[in-house]
Amino acid sequence: MHEMSLAMGILQIVEDAARAQSFRRVRSVFVEIGELSAVEPAAIRFCFDAVIAGTLAEGAVLNVVEVAGEGLCFNCHQTVPLAARYDPCPACGGYPVQATGGTEMRVKELEVE
Ligand SMILES: [Zn+2]
Repeated sequence: MHEMSLAMGILQIVEDAARAQSFRRVRSVFVEIGELSAVEPAAIRFCFDAVIAGTLAEGAVLNVVEVAGEGLCFNCHQTVPLAARYDPCPACGGYPVQATGGTEMRVKELEVE
């Protein structure tokens, strides 16, 4: 389950930001999760709640913003919506479609006090 290491990565970002901006509490964390990132929003929430216990982020809410997948079709050279990696191009039915968007997870914003 790679969500646990991702959750620890989120906590690391929060703690670094806390040091840099000297805030004491985090109310909520906004993360973008790409449709093609293979990250389960429910799993990352669960892991996040586990890793923030006893830290300055304890009790913080993890808000997940899902980002749609996007790819570039090598057959028709269009940028197309992509629901899953290795899907055929929805425009022309061709292959391959290289994933170009919605492939990662990143921390977008922190709400602090
Ligand atoms: Zn195509």
